[in-house]
Amino acid sequence: MTDNAVPIFDGHNDTLLRLDMARRSNKTISFLKGDKSLHIDFPKAQAGALAGGLFAIFVPPPQEPGKPLEFSQMQQELDQGYALNQTLSMMAGAFRLARQSKARVQICRSSLEIKMAMEDGAVALMLHIEGAEAIDADFDALEVLYAAGLRSLGPVWSRSNIFGHGVPFNFPGSPDHGPGLTDAGKELVRECNKLGILIDLSHLNEQGFWDVNSVSTKPLVATHSNVHALCESPRNLTNDQLTAIAESKGLVGLNYAVGFLRSDGDKFNRDVSLDRMVDHIAYLLDYLGEDGVALGSDFDGAMVPNQINDVSGNQALIAQMRARDFGDDLIEKIAYRNWISMLEKTGI
Ligand code: ZN
Repeated sequence: MTDNAVPIFDGHNDTLLRLDMARRSNKTISFLKGDKSLHIDFPKAQAGALAGGLFAIFVPPPQEPGKPLEFSQMQQELDQGYALNQTLSMMAGAFRLARQSKARVQICRSSLEIKMAMEDGAVALMLHIEGAEAIDADFDALEVLYAAGLRSLGPVWSRSNIFGHGVPFNFPGSPDHGPGLTDAGKELVRECNKLGILIDLSHLNEQGFWDVNSVSTKPLVATHSNVHALCESPRNLTNDQLTAIAESKGLVGLNYAVGFLRSDGDKFNRDVSLDRMVDHIAYLLDYLGEDGVALGSDFDGAMVPNQINDVSGNQALIAQMRARDFGDDLIEKIAYRNWISMLEKTGI
């Protein structure tokens, strides 16, 4: 880490899923020692000044041993008991990691705990669920998961569940796809508002987005989404959605996935300039202002630009913001301060 490295709080990664998948297939990969298969591990986090982030728990569909997962299977609906078991497994992985790390990784349940972890030079890990399949309509699982440390939740991933429907990944495509939140989904939003759990809009379809907008009492947040006008993926946000997020004084985290950055939507072509990433940031700033833009890398869940490569490359993006004349204050806001204040505003 160089002297002028800016700490980064990252709104989205899938590192816990990578670690869980490795454990299930009896592969030893160590987050603490580092592993080249991971975008985020402890040595690379230190090199890139990663202060912490929302660490997602995502449940893939059941898989037959030895058979690769087809993409169409990913969108099939999940049984709640199965999803809860998988969620517990990934959460246990996070707690085990924190315990073995001797305080180098700290599970944080509040913005204050994130600040304390940052002072310790630890990686602050806040738990997020991407797709609420593990949660029952009576919210018993929600209550227990909250007590365990869950502080952020996307009601759906890009598939349907009892709470609503996600956006597909077709390109080019609109997020306007299918019905919005169910009554249970609206109740989930109210319950999360009450408990102090952030609602993530990133994988919701457009009607679901508007439903959260009308039900939620908190600022609107998309943890890892980009600009639809620059890349017409249904996962990106239209100008109308950005306007609504701005009106709620909400926030968007820049997604590094090349398929959500590139104008051609090619999710396998990693030749994407740092400037292109800053173009999305600049567009978001125009709509959302200095307090409404942050980072949400999607590390360990997507292909990222060559020039970033993994979390150790985060400071290259910071350098590009400097080269585009973003001041130090704005850069710090985008890098970590906006995330911490948004969590505070959400009651976390
Ligand atoms: Zn995602």
